[in-house]
This record gives sequence, C-alpha cells and structure tokens, in this order.
Amino acid sequence: MTKVDEMKTVEKHTFGEVTGYELGFSPVGRPLMTVFCYVVGDILIDTGQSHMQETVLDIANIYSVSSVLLTHHHEDHSGNSAVLKQARKIPVFAHPATIEKMSGPYRVFPYQRWIWGPNTPVALDPFPDGFFEHGDLKFKAVHTPGHSRDHTSYLELNHGWLFSGDLYLGDRIKYFRADEKIADQIVSLKKILTYDFDALFCGHRPRPMKGKRCLAAKLRFLEDFYGRVSELADQGLDDRAIMGRLELKEQWLVRMMCFGNVSMRNMVRSAMAARRMERGD
Ligand SMILES: [Zn+2]
Repeated sequence: MTKVDEMKTVEKHTFGEVTGYELGFSPVGRPLMTVFCYVVGDILIDTGQSHMQETVLDIANIYSVSSVLLTHHHEDHSGNSAVLKQARKIPVFAHPATIEKMSGPYRVFPYQRWIWGPNTPVALDPFPDGFFEHGDLKFKAVHTPGHSRDHTSYLELNHGWLFSGDLYLGDRIKYFRADEKIADQIVSLKKILTYDFDALFCGHRPRPMKGKRCLAAKLRFLEDFYGRVSELADQGLDDRAIMGRLELKEQWLVRMMCFGNVSMRNMVRSAMAARRMERGD
C-alpha cells in the first residue's frame, strides 16, 4: 500500500502593508481548506491551525510580533495562541467570550482535531477599552456574532482595513456549522457595514479592494435566503421539503467529512429557527 503523507502548504500574499500567510494542512493529500493569518507591522491577526505551529512561530519571529488579535476561538484561527503567548510572552487580545471559551478544554469533533490539530487552553488578554493603538495603527474591536457567539472583527481605522475572521467567507455560502446563527450574522453584517473600510481581510478569502461591497453582497444573499426559507416554513414545509423546493443542494462531501456538523441543511434550519423566533412561536 502506498503511504500518503500529510501535507503542509504556505503561501505568502502581499497586500501593500498587510501580508497574508495562507496556511494549509492535510492529514492525507492536498489540503482542501486553507486559512489566513495576517501580519501588519508587528501585529499578527489570527494564529492559524496548530498543525502549522512551526510555520506560525517562524512568522512571529521574522516580524518580531508583539501582539496578536484573535477573531474567534475556532481551531483554524486560534490554534497557535497558547504557543505564541508562551514562546514570545506577548498579549493575545480577544473578546470576553473567546477568553472564556479558551480558558479551559472544550469539546471538538474528531474531524476538527484531525484537520486543524488539538486545541490547547490558554489565558487570553482582554482587548483594551476603546482602541488598540500601535505606531500608526489604530484598531477597534467590533463584536460580530453569528458564525460563532464570540466572533469579533477588527477594524483598522487609519487605513480602512477590516480583519473579518469568518464573517465573510464568500458572497454566497453553501453550508453552516450546526451552531451558526443566520439572524445574528445578518445583524452583524448590518452593524459592520455602518463603518468605513475598503479592504476586507477575510480568514479564508481576502478581498483587498472593494471589500465592503462583498460584505454587502453577502448580507443580500443571507437576507434573501432567510426570506425564501421563511416563506416556505410559514406554509408548513419542513427542512427537507424546503431544500427540495428551493433546489438547494446538500454539500455531501463536506457534510460527510464533518460528520454532519457542517451542511446546507444547517443553514435552512438556522433560517427556520430565526423565523420561529421572529413569529414568537
Ligand atoms: Zn470559524
């Protein structure tokens, strides 16, 4: 039998003053999903998956990283927080909900451990009151829940950059994790669109120009999706029937790989739950 080795990929992207490192890891064959961490000056935004620990430590050393901003607790974003804090004795700033979540061990699905690596509890640092200013950089933390309860975006006010974690992902999306909330995502997108920015540094798909338009497109997509699902739910259709009527295709590969935790059906169910809340039943 041929042994298929794990594979690590690193791609460096330069967006003016912001450098993105696209990190991929796969236990078998080429990585299907990659994640970005960003460096600006000596600030690192998100820390990649723990399977890429050596690479992330190298990046932190090259740029003499002095602080980290964390968008949320998911393993592909927070995976090297503990090791960075320990190795460099630097603050890793995060939202109180991220701090709480990562303060002790929490349950992850086996596929999450397999793809991203183990999660290590860590004592994170609260984001400073108001702004975090460093040289000519001025960051504001904006809580943008929905993808996860703790999800936070970081707005850099002097340059018009938004480090958006998993708030964007694409103009249209095809699946949700079981714990994602469409109603909260819609509120968060509306909130973030009240701010001024152009570059969108997404955790998986950067949009260095006209990023705000991309987020507006995602908002339209989610509102439309919610509207269409609600209408059919009001007629008494269940999730399967709604998917059939709207010709929504299940993402079977993803759904199977993630043991049902990630699917189109979750997105439909999230919209149905939001509709029930809205109607008060
Ligand atoms: Zn995430």
